[in-house]
Amino acid sequence: MSPTDLPSLRATLDAHGLMAKKSFGQHFLLDLNVTRKIVRLAGPFEGRAVIEVGPGPGGLTRALLESDAGRVVLVEKDARFIPLLSELDDGAGRLAIIEGDALKVREADLVEGPTHLVSNLPYNVGTPLLIKWLTGPWTPCALTLMFQKEVAERIVAAPGDDDYGRLAVIAQATAEARIVMHLPAAAFTPPPKVASAVVHLVPRADRPPADLLKRLERVTAAAFGQRRKMLRSSLKALGGAGLCERAGVDPDARAETVDVAGFLRLAQEV
Ligand code: SAM
Repeated sequence: MSPTDLPSLRATLDAHGLMAKKSFGQHFLLDLNVTRKIVRLAGPFEGRAVIEVGPGPGGLTRALLESDAGRVVLVEKDARFIPLLSELDDGAGRLAIIEGDALKVREADLVEGPTHLVSNLPYNVGTPLLIKWLTGPWTPCALTLMFQKEVAERIVAAPGDDDYGRLAVIAQATAEARIVMHLPAAAFTPPPKVASAVVHLVPRADRPPADLLKRLERVTAAAFGQRRKMLRSSLKALGGAGLCERAGVDPDARAETVDVAGFLRLAQEV
């Protein structure tokens, strides 16, 4: 069956007797106009593979299968959805369905070559998954991900913004990130308590190496752990004022005013 001949997502959920489970962070997008728009913002894929984490009832999956993705690989933790997702498989070998925890899978075992990530992420694991994909051994060529609006704003925040913190520094040291779409809570079934936003990230070609990223995580944890203190004090255990001076960063500055380049220099000197 082609994705356009399929019964509606709501009818499919009813036919399988499926309800959203809170423990899996399930808030579904049942409007295919919305999922198609997300896929348009994520593409074009030009025959490359796409991984979707948490396909649930498959609204985003249907839009991905209509796109120019060469292969669509699903990773879903809730086994209840696997039979329903299998109905999307037309047998042409383009769709792969993996039942598993996205935090634990090794993406390099699932796909070859440049791969996009497109997902409406479960809120409870969205941030650790983003960190895994931006700092781990396997990185996609682009990521188009739905987060709670507040998390999306923390990813793209600039120095001086209230939301600027560890997540902004790590995300922007490794990728170019921008918010490409806002969605109200009412767009989801069941609606979550907060609004959402889609972030598009393109990993940098000059991503810092793994050991520098580890040091960046240590520096940002210390600096933002006491964000109102001057760096000479919050970074004391890592070298304090001397470290700041070697990195060309004002020891009297507070973490929230130091840009990503400044944090990378601090990490280099640690
Ligand atoms: N993509 C669907 C949509 O837009 O309607 C569902 C999105 S829902 C916010 C999150 C999905 O992620 C659910 O299907 C949930 O079962 C799945 N999920 C939760 N934790 C997961 C994990 N650790 N690994 C893989 N999938 C997970």
